[in-house]
Parts: sequence; C-alpha cells; structure tokens
Amino acid sequence: PASHATRIALVTGAASGIGKAIATRLAAEGACVVIADLDLQKAQDAAAELGSTDVAIGVAANVTSPTEIQAAIDACVLQFGGLDLVVNNAGLSLSKPLLETTDADWDLQHNVMAKGSFMVSRAAARVLIDQQMGGDIIYISSKNSVFAGPNNIAYSATKADQAHQVRLLAVELGEHGIKVNGINPDGVVRGSGIFSGGWGAKRAAVYGVPEEELGAYYAKRTILGREVLPDHVANAVAVLTGADLTHTTGLHIPVDAGVAAA
Ligand code: NAD
Repeated sequence: PASHATRIALVTGAASGIGKAIATRLAAEGACVVIADLDLQKAQDAAAELGSTDVAIGVAANVTSPTEIQAAIDACVLQFGGLDLVVNNAGLSLSKPLLETTDADWDLQHNVMAKGSFMVSRAAARVLIDQQMGGDIIYISSKNSVFAGPNNIAYSATKADQAHQVRLLAVELGEHGIKVNGINPDGVVRGSGIFSGGWGAKRAAVYGVPEEELGAYYAKRTILGREVLPDHVANAVAVLTGADLTHTTGLHIPVDAGVAAA
C-alpha cells in the first residue's frame, strides 16, 4: 500500500510519563507526533521538547470527550497530512480496595481507559481505513490486565477491557492492514506521573516499603531484577510498530522485567 513519507503518530496522555517517552522515541525515529493530554500548556511544552511544530504539536484532548478526540485526530490530518499510528496511553490509577471503590471511581477509570481508548480507536480507524495505507493502534494496558493483585479492582478491570479491545480490533481491522497490539508494563515508578499522583504512596503502603524505595522494591521482585522505566515501554512501541514486525497483530508484550507466577 501507499504510505506517508513520514509516519504520523497520535499519542494520548503524552505530556508526561510513559506517553511522553513514547512520543519522544517516535519523533527520534522521524515520525511527526501529536501529543494529546488534559492540559494544553503541558501538551505544548512536551511537544516543544521534541522540536518545532513541523515535528510535534500539543493539543488538549480529554479522552472522555468525543469532540476533543475528534479534534486531536483532525489535528493530525490538518497539521501533518494524515495518521499512521495511534497509542492509547492516557490513564490514571485510583488504587483502591473493593469496599472503598465508589461508583464514581469505577466510572472514571472505565471512562478514561476502556471507553476513552475505544473512542480514540474508533475515530482513528475511520481515518486509517479511509487512507487505505494500513496503520498501527497500540494500547498501553498493564500487567494487571492478566494478573490479579490487591487494591485495584476498577483499574485492573478496565485494563483487562483494553486488553480484549486489542484482540477484537485486531480481528476487525486486519482486513484493512491495520495492526492492533498491546503492551503490558509493570512497576514503572521513576518518571511516571501516576506514581507521584498518590498511587505510589498507596502501593508502597500495601507492600510495606518506604515510597522512595518502591522502584527498587519492584525491581527486586522481577525475574531479571531490573527496574522498568518509561523508555523500556517506548522501545516496545517502536518494535511493534517498526519495519521489522509487519506480521504481528493482536499480541500483548509484557514490559515488566519478568513476573514470576504466583
Ligand atoms: P502518567 O500519570 O505519567 O501519565 C498519564 C497521562 O495521562 C498524564 O499525562 C495524564 O494527564 C493523562 N491523562 C489522564 N487522564 C486523561 C484523560 N481523561 N484524557 C487525556 N489524558 C489523560 O502515568 P504513566 O505511568 O505514564 O501511565 C501511562 C499509561 O501506562 C497509563 O494508561 C497507565 O495505566 C499505564 N501503565 C502504567 C504503569 C506504571 O507502572 N506506571 C504500569 C502499567 C500500565
């Protein structure tokens, strides 16, 4: 199929953390990037770090809003001439046990991650199908989509929803040459805004370690004994959407330094 001279990528929640690392990596590989996040200034600041507006722009897009999602997709087309790659990364973790999880908590987690990524994928698929150039949709799901852990029912359930969206969309969009794959990170503490937003303190309390030692604690629990950083997740995006992996769809890659069973 025909292709854009330069890949054009949309990354949601890319003003910080894993999303920012993904946007940075894609730009380093020559892609034009639209950074979508809640706060326009932060999105624009993150884009400015990648270069001029010929390379990256920041837009305000809450993924719970269909109109703001459409505006972000339109920005890809208007600014860079199309769309090739979408990363559903926007998210948050309330990290609460069952009895403390309110209906509003459940709705927020699901509206942002399950419904938000569904709406982003749907809006993106319209453009990708219309262009007839294939494309990639990536979901940043979580180890929690597969493994059950304590105190995170709403978050983990919505991550499992995202994981099944990957399989369902891989089947449905395959005939258009669109690959859909997921990444299951775990334990990204340093560089993650979720961590500084309070999630880290709660997880540290659950595991009985000081908050500043949570990254090291996670690293020790992994098979490889290594700390997972945002760049490691970005590496997986680069591989899944890169020139070498043209025949892989519906896959989830763990980026967790190895999780031991049980
Ligand atoms: P982060 O807080 O640094 O990044 C999340 C970004 O999403 C923020 O910039 C935030 O403003 C944005 N966001 C939140 N709600 C949004 C909304 N409604 N619309 C648009 N943007 C919104 O945290 P992170 O660790 O980089 O998380 C990125 C993704 O990775 C999330 O989906 C998270 O669930 C997933 N993840 C993280 C880890 C980890 O260990 N940190 C593990 C597994 C999965």
